[in-house]
Amino acid sequence: MNKQMKPTQENNELVDMFSRTISYLRLSLTDRCNLRCVYCMPEDGEEGGLKILQHSDLLSYEELLRVIKVVVDMGMNKLRLTGGEPLVRRGVMDFIAALSKVKGLEEIRLTTNGVLLQEKAAGLFDAGIRKLNISLDTMRPERFKEITGADLFEQVWQGIETAVELGFEIKLNVVAMKGINDDEFVDFARLALEKPYQVRFIEFMPVGKNSTWDKRYYIPSTELKEMIGKVGTLEALSGCRMDGPAKVYSLTAADGSKGRIGFISPISHHFCDTCNRLRLTSAGTLRACLLHDHEADLKALLRSGGSDKEIRALIKQTILDKPKGHTLAEDLANCEGQMSRIGG
Ligand code: SAM
Ligand code: SF4
Repeated sequence: MNKQMKPTQENNELVDMFSRTISYLRLSLTDRCNLRCVYCMPEDGEEGGLKILQHSDLLSYEELLRVIKVVVDMGMNKLRLTGGEPLVRRGVMDFIAALSKVKGLEEIRLTTNGVLLQEKAAGLFDAGIRKLNISLDTMRPERFKEITGADLFEQVWQGIETAVELGFEIKLNVVAMKGINDDEFVDFARLALEKPYQVRFIEFMPVGKNSTWDKRYYIPSTELKEMIGKVGTLEALSGCRMDGPAKVYSLTAADGSKGRIGFISPISHHFCDTCNRLRLTSAGTLRACLLHDHEADLKALLRSGGSDKEIRALIKQTILDKPKGHTLAEDLANCEGQMSRIGG
């Protein structure tokens, strides 16, 4: 395609009905996780509503590589590995090594809870990953245990330090929850001044049938910005640059130190107009929107002998079915999908 030509549905099959170009695949490698964050995974077992997939329900690495090659052939060049916790899936490092050899796949990123980073960071760097999103909602070990169900704060912190030393670009994802971690937002902002991370505050979303979401915990980004404003001056970067779904600001403290802060506001200021994502869930379904439950069964197609042409057609159709936006602000109960299966 001529570089000057504007992508349209006629000249580019990654363009959806609302002229958005889908350039980015989020792949949930597994719905399993070594943590149980209160906002993400309900209690295990039928009663709690968390049904973990069997290994045979996951797409195999061979199936995933096949799909990714098709997707890259269609013109997508960016992939994010997520989960569940992507680093708990057996064989993940070999899979990443194989991915890094896929021609045309320019960037592989990873979202992780950091528990296994100390052990795996060097291997990830060797495989060519340079950008990590690490989830961390508190810097207090006791509270970490309360939020995640595991006494692993020090291990995660060491993992982050290891990753920084290796040269990864790091974004720290903090889910903002009133009455749970809001007394630490200022500390997180200070961390962004001291360390080379972008700290990103994410509005708590009601995702999943058994979500612990409640209005009482929800803090809109406008309120978050006011709180962070006490640490220093927030300035929108080039007209409030969008970095993925985040609006990114520079933070300058009175002593001149600088950092970067991102706000991800799916509820108060949704970013559906610029959404460029397609999701492949750990159940092998294609999902065009995090907050809409419609999914296309790619696994069934793969396992019934579907050709690459048919895989491509299903991906194209899912893109065409991508909804214009979500209505979470008006209707807070429209998404039943399980976050760890969808991949966030
Ligand atoms: N296990 C990895 C991790 O925690 O980074 C990757 C998967 S996790 C589902 C991806 C992201 O979704 C994390 O940053 C997590 O904090 C975020 N997340 C999960 N549930 C959420 C919710 N209800 N509202 C907002 N963010 C949520
Ligand atoms: Fe696991 Fe990530 Fe969900 Fe926490 S947010 S339970 S670390 S998948």
